[in-house]
This record gives sequence, C-alpha cells and structure tokens, in this order.
Amino acid sequence: MAYEHPRCDHCGDVGCKAGTPGKFKFCPTNVSGYGKEEIAERYSEPILQKMMTVAAKVERGTLQEVNGVRTPIRPRISEIMAFADEMGWKRIGVAFCLAARDEALRLVKVLEARDFEVCSIICRNFGMTKGEVGIPEEACLKSPSETVCNPIYQAELLNEAGTDMNIVVGLCVGHDMLFNKHSNAYVTTLMVKDRMTANNTVGPLYSNFFSEILKKK
Ligand code: SF4
Repeated sequence: MAYEHPRCDHCGDVGCKAGTPGKFKFCPTNVSGYGKEEIAERYSEPILQKMMTVAAKVERGTLQEVNGVRTPIRPRISEIMAFADEMGWKRIGVAFCLAARDEALRLVKVLEARDFEVCSIICRNFGMTKGEVGIPEEACLKSPSETVCNPIYQAELLNEAGTDMNIVVGLCVGHDMLFNKHSNAYVTTLMVKDRMTANNTVGPLYSNFFSEILKKK
C-alpha cells in the first residue's frame, strides 16, 4: 500500500471514535500536517459554531432513550425542520427534479404546515433545451430539442429569493453538484434519486450487483 492520503477505509480499530486515532499508518493524523488546535480554530466563526452546536442538538433530539435503549425517534425530514428551527431559518428553498415532483409536493405541504415559508424550483425551470446549453446530440436521449435540467438557475432563483436553507429533492448526478456549488444558502439533501432502485441508493451495495466487478480486484 503506497498511499499518501488518508485511507480510513483500511483502518482496523477506528481509534478516533474513542479519541485515540493514529495507530494506522495512513490515519489522517499521520499523513497530514494539521494539528487539533488548528482544526478547532476552523470552527470558531460564530455561524459555524452555531451550526455545529445545532447539529449536535438535533442528533441528541433524535436519539432518545426508549425502554432503556438509545433509539432514533424521528425521520430525517423532522431533523431538517428541527435544524432550521434552531438556526432561526424561516425561508426554505426546495430544489426538486421533475422525477421527484410527488415527493417535493409532499415535503412542501409538511414544511408549510410547520409554518416555514417555501420557495420551490423544479429542475426544468425556463424550459431550456439540451441544445441551448451546448449538449451534443450523441449525449441526448433523443435529440438536443429535449428539455434539460437547469441546476444553476435553480440555485440562482433561490439565491434571488433569499432562502435561509435549501433542500435538494432528487436532483440528477452532476446537476446536484452544480446546484450545491451555486447555492448561496447551505444545502441539505432529503432525497437522492436512483432510477433503478426506487431511490434506495445504497441497496446495490448489499446485493450481488457488483459481484463481478469485485471479483476482478
Ligand atoms: S481517523 Fe485514523 S483512527 Fe479514525 S478511522 Fe481514520 S485511520 Fe482509523
């Protein structure tokens, strides 16, 4: 193994969980020049301090004692709303894919019932075509005249609306990256679209789907 970068996936003891990382040669504590104090300093900005504290509070609120056992008592949607509540964020953007419209509409109903102000943008906003954004015919399903997702403008429109936080619902691979990069507000993802697995993105990792690929390694 000739790695120059952290390889936590090869670690045997996950000592960092107990505050004692470093036994493994390619532990980040051994291959980077950063010290703990320097890293802690990165979180000293007030907004980052607040977000880290709120994230901890949300985790604590989700993992409750039930019959003497620490048990998750609420779904991700409730965690997102609890996070927004704690941050004092009222205006929520929902950036959704046409293929996830049903989920987005359900989400918006819940957000509004909890008195959040919602701005929602579908991926096909402006009805742009693949040809208009320079996608060649060989990359299209049928032709460059078919409409294309428009993630940069999903972000720009939510920026214009001044949302406090944006929620991604089912954006395509790549479009999600562009949306996240261009959003001014922090972004969280509720739903990751997976056309083949009914959106169970990690399901294939628990199946034989990759068995032939894995045999080659
Ligand atoms: S940070 Fe270090 S101790 Fe933790 S999993 Fe990675 S290699 Fe292992």
